[in-house]
Amino acid sequence: MTPLVDNFGRTHDNLRISVTDRCNIRCFYCMPEEGVKFQAQEQILSFEEIERFVRVAASLGVRKLRITGGEPLLRRDLPTLIRMLSAVEGIQDLALTTNGVLLADHAQALYDAGLRRLNVHLDTLDRARFQEITRRDDFDRVMAGIDAAQRIGFRVKINAVAVKGLVEPDIVPLARFGRERGIEIRYIEFMPLDAQGLWGNKHVLTADEMIAMISREIGALREIPEQDPRAPATEYEFVDGVGSVGFIASISRPFCLNCNRIRITADGHFRYCLFAIEELDLKALLRDGSSDEKIAAAMRAWVKAKWIGHEINSAKFVAPPRPMYSIGG
Ligand code: SAM
Ligand code: SF4
Repeated sequence: MTPLVDNFGRTHDNLRISVTDRCNIRCFYCMPEEGVKFQAQEQILSFEEIERFVRVAASLGVRKLRITGGEPLLRRDLPTLIRMLSAVEGIQDLALTTNGVLLADHAQALYDAGLRRLNVHLDTLDRARFQEITRRDDFDRVMAGIDAAQRIGFRVKINAVAVKGLVEPDIVPLARFGRERGIEIRYIEFMPLDAQGLWGNKHVLTADEMIAMISREIGALREIPEQDPRAPATEYEFVDGVGSVGFIASISRPFCLNCNRIRITADGHFRYCLFAIEELDLKALLRDGSSDEKIAAAMRAWVKAKWIGHEINSAKFVAPPRPMYSIGG
């Protein structure tokens, strides 16, 4: 079958699957503190529907999957889904992004189901700031989750969202922690996907600013040569040979022209971009008796019409109607 290629020649082989829009914490750059409206249970794709969708996607060349949310560990029996998706022909890589709060409880079952790669979201090593950001007092649980995951043998990375005027004191301690623990810290520039419309360019701590801070305080960094140009993070290693850090610089260094990612929301809407305004209602096709061929054709047409990029730095930019937790970061 023809792969998922768009009008700009980009081939899409990387799929992010949101399995819930619910979350057990309330990061201010993602969710409002109160009154979040979640999807009704019957709107959420079942494991069987997700597996079928992944089978069709794999037949169109998708090779890499990432499970996300909301908080994916809130989805009951997640290891069952991990097993189902690992078994889909063509899938070569499966990873999960979590806030880590429930990780200590679930890590072993996820490992036993075949998962090997985890990204744990942690912006700070300071308990008070963790609470300020997440509006919950779960710092110790996240740290216990990271400990458990490493003990069990997962390859762990940490995702840290970089909000200017807030996390400057955290950048260097996180990089030091990563060096000590053999964990790559991935700093993610704050993106305009928060539910409360708080984003502004002035709140973005840029990759260049963070690289300068880390080099000054810890030691020189150099860009790792010959990286996959389609990976969202640019990786740097410490010149002393101990550890590396990555930067997802969506705002200061947009990477849209190399994008290979597509997404499905927990309620079954297909998206060709994190920032897309329009979505394809794939759940309707999954539930109305449509054939796999019809679903594949709809996906191909949707991806083909993908826009060139998000235009965040231009006057044309419009924030997507769904905030991050409902898209799946
Ligand atoms: N709950 C899980 C978690 O927090 O990792 C998975 C879903 S969360 C939406 C996925 C990632 O999105 C998080 O790791 C966080 O780093 C990132 N994120 C959330 N809101 C963001 C924002 N406004 N800008 C940049 N990254 C954001
Ligand atoms: Fe929850 Fe993840 Fe959003 Fe934080 S970033 S509120 S952990 S979904």
